[in-house]
Parts: sequence; structure tokens; C-alpha cells
Amino acid sequence: AKQAATLAAFGTQHIGRGVARSTEHVWAAGQGSWMHSMDGKKYLDFTCGIGVTNLGHCHPKVTKAAQEQCAKIVHAQINIGYHNPAITLVEKLLPVMPDKSLDTFLFVNSGSEAVESAVKLARHATKKQNIIVMQGGFHGRTLATASMTRSKTIYSAGFGPLLSGVFATPFPYEYHYALAHGKPQSSSLSDACADDALAALRLLLKQQSAPADTAAIVLEPVLGEGGYVPASARYLRGLRDICDEHGILLIIDEVQSGFGRTGTYFAIEQANVRPDILIMAKGIANGFPLAGIASRKELMDRQTPGSMGGTYSGNAVSCAAAVACADVMQTEGILDNVKARGEQLRSGLSALQSHAKVGPLIGDIRGLGLMLGLEFSRSAPASIATKVQKAAHDRGLLLLTTSVFETMRFIPPLTISEAEMKQGVEIFGESLKAAAS
Ligand code: PMP
Repeated sequence: AKQAATLAAFGTQHIGRGVARSTEHVWAAGQGSWMHSMDGKKYLDFTCGIGVTNLGHCHPKVTKAAQEQCAKIVHAQINIGYHNPAITLVEKLLPVMPDKSLDTFLFVNSGSEAVESAVKLARHATKKQNIIVMQGGFHGRTLATASMTRSKTIYSAGFGPLLSGVFATPFPYEYHYALAHGKPQSSSLSDACADDALAALRLLLKQQSAPADTAAIVLEPVLGEGGYVPASARYLRGLRDICDEHGILLIIDEVQSGFGRTGTYFAIEQANVRPDILIMAKGIANGFPLAGIASRKELMDRQTPGSMGGTYSGNAVSCAAAVACADVMQTEGILDNVKARGEQLRSGLSALQSHAKVGPLIGDIRGLGLMLGLEFSRSAPASIATKVQKAAHDRGLLLLTTSVFETMRFIPPLTISEAEMKQGVEIFGESLKAAAS
């Protein structure tokens, strides 16, 4: 334990504080749904490294594939030729794309890079400049993606001048819409919320960013860092219509919601909406750095050779890991588990909402599959989300908060067992009670 504390102190001294940490642990190992700290404690991981280790830590098949690839070739640089893992990965991804038109890929290293690549593609292909994003959207921390991120000001404050030509439109946030209208949530309220958000976008296209100048609309189908808020199918279909009407590209950022997290391979499938560009990262390789975009060949082929990618793009070890992930997704009934465990989690949280003592703290439970958010009610004590997060940590459960609203996010591994989920929900319930008293 002393050694861990010494290492953490060294880290605090020499690793920049621009990267935030929610604990001071030095992590020694991860296995399945559990993380082990150097001082010998173990934690049930409901964070998945921010939605990355979807198949659990160190899934044996993914580890084996990466190890084997390491022994063959690590850096089969993408500008110098193809490598087998990248080609095989494309073969695995093609059948799970949310639309058959998404048949051409570009691999990079991080979600931010993939978003940047999508924006470059959209601008270059449409010869238009403006980009419309969502209020509450998060797309990364590089300069262009920080300019597009609207979930918290910390991501852009002090970094200007930012990318110009970025406009934000309201996201259909149903819980806030219900609060503002003093009505309970219902399907008609959901429709009204979607219609109002679409009307605001139409106005934006008339008042601020003319369709003739607008290259793309970029959004997450489930707001991630903006609060784990799913957009309704009605809203997403409305967006598709507006894009078609005005020749605007629809870019769907599934960095956090992709690869089974929401119960389908991609969240956008559930609305049956075709993206022009799909952005992928995080869960694609279960922790190995890999990201990508998919689009139709006709669009991608407008790019000038050499204008995209980078030194490490589509690293062979990351691609081999991603191939193994795709195999595990197919052979281990992952999507079925997401559905079952998602329902278990949702009903566990709902039971807490009807609990006499802690129930009134809970304002909204929402999300898809195993991407669930719990927003505390406006009457809950200040900083309740952080207090509950800390109480849960002290009881052996790792959780993340999200957004500028008091919201907890639940992103356990898609492989989590029924017993582990039960344990997680129990610890969360105890943590709520502890934080409330
Ligand atoms: N888009 C979304 C929706 C994200 O959640 C994130 C990361 N949280 C990013 C983009 C940026 O990804 P990265 O941190 O890999 O650059």
C-alpha cells in the first residue's frame, strides 16, 4: 500500500493536472468486470474506462489475438501497404453497419481524430464549411473537436480562437422539457420535444447557417458527456429529412454508444436512420487505441490521397484486437446479455425510485441497453452525483458522473453477469442512502 501511495504522489507531482482523475488509485490489473488496485483492493467496474472495455477487462480472446499479432508485426504502416487485420476487420464490420451504403472505411487512433476526419471529409466533399452540433454534445478535446463540444465549457475555455462555422442546436432532452412544461413524461410529450427541437434547427438554418453553407449536422444518438440522453426516433428521422431536403450530410458519432452498448450494434439502428458518415471508437477494440469512420465509397473517394490518416492509423495490433472483439460479439451472445442485464439494471434503479427515503432524490432514469443515466431531482442535495460516486467507490463500485446536471452514468461491461449486476445495484442503493443522510 505504501508503494501505491508513493507512486500516486509521484504521479501527482509529475503528470500534468490537465487530465482529470476521479480516484488516486494505481491500477494493477483488470479482469472481466473487476479492477484491482495496487494496494490490493478490488472494484466492480461500472465505467469500462469510459465505455471502452465493453467485453470486460482483458477478455482472453482479445488478449490472445493482440499477443499473436504482436509477434507477427506491430507497425505495418498504413501508407506503405495493407495488413491482414485491417482487411479482416473491414470484412467483420461491413455486415454490422447500420446501413449498407456505409461500405468504405478510414481508421485512425482516437474518437477525436475520427470526428476530425469526418468533418474534413464532409467539408471537402460538399465544398461547404459550416457544421451544426447539438447543445450538450461531446466530440473530443482536439482543437476542432473542442470547438464542436458543447457539454461543458471546460473543454473550450481559454483555447480560442476555436474553429469557426460551428453552430449549436437544442438536443431533444425530454426530462428537461417535461420539467420546463410542468408535465410528466409521456409519448406525446416526447413527440412535442422532438418537434420543438426540429423547429429550432429549421430556424437556425434560416437565421444563422444557410443550408448552402452547411456541410453537416453532427450528433450522438445518445448524448454521452452531455448526460446520457437518448434522442427519440422521431427526432432522428426528422433530422434525416432536413438533411435530405437541404443536401446536408448527417454524421452520427457512435464513439460512446457503438459496438453493442445500447443493445444493438449501433444506437442509430433503433431509429432506422441512415447516417452519411458513422464515427466509431472506444468499444471497437476493447481498449486498444483504434477509431474509424465509415461512409459511402462515392464520398470517401473524393478525398485526395495522402490528405487523411496518420502514422499509427489502423495499427495492426489494434485491428487484430478489434477483429477478436467482433468475433466475441457474434459468438458469445453479447447483445442478448445487454438486453437482459440492461433490464435488470433499469428495474433495479426503478425500484430505488419507489423507495420512501431515496426515491425523491431520483428525477429521471433513461437510456438504452447498458448505457443508462440517472439524473437526480432538482430537490436533491448539492453535488449529489459526486457524493454518491464517492460513497459507491468506498463500497467497491466504480461509477462515473456525466454532464453539468447532477447525473450518474451506468456503463458496466456488456459481459457482466446477473450476480455482478445485482451486487452493483445493491451498492448503488446503499451509496444513495449514505449520500442522502
Ligand atoms: N465522441 C464521443 C461521443 C465521445 O464520447 C468521445 C470520448 N468521450 C469522443 C468523441 C472523443 O474520443 P477520444 O477521447 O477517443 O478522442
